[in-house]
Amino acid sequence: EKPTVIIIGRPNVGKSTLFNRLVGKRLALVDDQPGVTRDRRFGEAEIAGMEFTIVDTAGWEDDDPESLPGRMRQQTEVSIEGADAALLVFDSRAGVTPLDEEISRWLRAQDIPVVLVANKAEGKFGDPGIFESFKLGFGEPVALSAEHGEGVADLFEHLWPII
Ligand code: GDP
Ligand code: MG
Repeated sequence: EKPTVIIIGRPNVGKSTLFNRLVGKRLALVDDQPGVTRDRRFGEAEIAGMEFTIVDTAGWEDDDPESLPGRMRQQTEVSIEGADAALLVFDSRAGVTPLDEEISRWLRAQDIPVVLVANKAEGKFGDPGIFESFKLGFGEPVALSAEHGEGVADLFEHLWPII
């Protein structure tokens, strides 16, 4: 059985872009459980020969982007059960927002290893956000650009020891 890695983060940080980058042309698994899995997508990912199932989530999407509706959070809680690691994605250009901090607090209380991902880090534009992200308490982030593919392979060395 392949390990499972779940992508978590507030809306618009690039979770789905990272999912698509990791899945590439491999077909996403069909999920036939409407309702429970409405906000999840599963795919088969591969980095340098390391294969895993990747889960895209939209658990913190809402009309009010700074709110945390319980039913949506539940979706993510269901998804995180059985996952072997989480990628916590933030937007390094936007910096750390209150919702990033709230999601971080929630994730720290879960029993799962976390790799912090500084997305949109092409060029030097993300540097201030990268330094700011140390306050999230997950150590140094992996800086990458999901859209351009830069740095995505660096996830290997962080995920390989924990999945
Ligand atoms: P999600 O809501 O977290 O799933 O975010 P999306 O994957 O839908 O991306 C939100 C927006 O950020 C889109 O306009 C993407 O094109 C953009 N985006 C995603 N990844 C990157 C990146 O690496 N660099 C830049 N500059 N933009 C990105
Ligand atoms: Mg998305």
